[in-house]
Amino acid sequence: MRGQQDYLAYRPRPFRKEERSKVTLLYGGLTWKHERLLQGALENMGYRAKPLPQIERKDLDIGKEFVDVGACCPTTFTAGNLARTLETLKKEEGEDGVKENYVFVTVGACGPCRFGQYHESYERVLEGLNLREFRMYLLDLMRMEQAVEGGGLEINTPLTLGLFMGMFLGDLITDMEYSTRPYEKEQGKTDKVVEESIQILYEALKNRPLRGKKWGNLLWHLFTDYFTKALKEVKKLWDEVEVDRLQPKPKVKITGEFWLQTHEGEGNYNIKRWLEREGAEVIPPPVAVWMDYLIHMEIFKLEDAKPFVKGYFLKKTVATLVAYLYRRTYDRLRKALGNIPNPLPSQRELRRLAEPYFHYRLTGGEGHMLIGKALYALKHKQAHMICELSPYGCLPNTMSVGAMAKVLADYPHLLYAPIEVKGDAEVHALSRCQMVLTEAKKRAKEEFYQVLEMTGLTLERIREFEEDNPHIRRATYHVPRYGFVGTAANYVYHVAQLMRGRR
Ligand code: SF4
Repeated sequence: MRGQQDYLAYRPRPFRKEERSKVTLLYGGLTWKHERLLQGALENMGYRAKPLPQIERKDLDIGKEFVDVGACCPTTFTAGNLARTLETLKKEEGEDGVKENYVFVTVGACGPCRFGQYHESYERVLEGLNLREFRMYLLDLMRMEQAVEGGGLEINTPLTLGLFMGMFLGDLITDMEYSTRPYEKEQGKTDKVVEESIQILYEALKNRPLRGKKWGNLLWHLFTDYFTKALKEVKKLWDEVEVDRLQPKPKVKITGEFWLQTHEGEGNYNIKRWLEREGAEVIPPPVAVWMDYLIHMEIFKLEDAKPFVKGYFLKKTVATLVAYLYRRTYDRLRKALGNIPNPLPSQRELRRLAEPYFHYRLTGGEGHMLIGKALYALKHKQAHMICELSPYGCLPNTMSVGAMAKVLADYPHLLYAPIEVKGDAEVHALSRCQMVLTEAKKRAKEEFYQVLEMTGLTLERIREFEEDNPHIRRATYHVPRYGFVGTAANYVYHVAQLMRGRR
């Protein structure tokens, strides 16, 4: 029929091995810290790699020009970011330069939400920019070994493990950063130390020795002290950061959709920095929790299908061992930083807590974890308040927010601020958060003064003790938790214990 064209699905040209030395892999979607560390892991394997520039507000508008209007805001932001990058490269290196010298690598997963279809939006970007010849590859998040056509990019065991290490290290430094910055004595010191730490760890990843190919490489990563040594060097930098923990600040746990909660920048109104400016201590969400969730979902599915699975006990043992080693590795790295970063929550507990409200087999986005994490924080006195970041147009988050209505009826004490992020309604979103934050601040102060009263201490007396024991003012000094939520409250109680000669 005239005027009618067959639809041809996008299929990237092969990326050949011999092109590796001149082609740069573009990627994005995490914090600048994680992305820099992943760059180290990729360069270690002989790739040229470059993260996309940081997300800016204008990426939302650019993205809207290419993707459908109903797309969730992470899709729109990231598609806009890719479009902006390709346009800039086109100006600098010409159309052929972009097509030949760069490829874009992204991950996807199967599921009911748009995460499985991000690449479709990116394809619209390539069409819109008349760059269908540009190569974009979609990798499967759950496969340790895969390659793109032509073998230019091979995800093998050493690369996968390097990327995992990069992700863990990025999470741990982020935890150090957010637990320190609100209390730093010298303004700006934490940010400086974060930058120096990431540079040390980037070099460590880039110069990682490649021992073994598959099992040998896995064993090396599980038992080497190579990364813990690098972290001990990093810890020395943090030892030099002095903090004042005698400031009662509300602890705000960030939950929500994966991209939005991880992001640090204009894609979520820079809400983590904003909360700090408002006087809060933020508990950031580690990327490692989400991977732990994916590993456990495989175990849960296996358990559900037990009567029908051949070799069930062997498969279950292997999956459980993987989950154990994953957590053990994270804990080993945490320990090298004095256990200041938070441990990973138990996935079984998250599932059990969420069970009455959200079935764990309803996957997509963060699944039952949003409810599980909120109740986990309440039960373990981890935070005064939950700030849940929900993207406009996100199906899984809409379901969680709906189910939270029943959770709040059962736990009226829980301070919960669901923030819908559209990307262009900042004042509305932040003012909603501020309302709940006011109550969280009140609780943090009340708790602090109660502990002062309980211990009979005064601020002056604690300051004197600090003068005699300056090491307790280090950012790396571990303050145990005594059942209080706030950092300041636990600190006062701890000082009282120290004064009595106990810990
Ligand atoms: S979880 Fe929500 S925001 Fe994230 S990709 Fe899926 S639909 Fe989009």
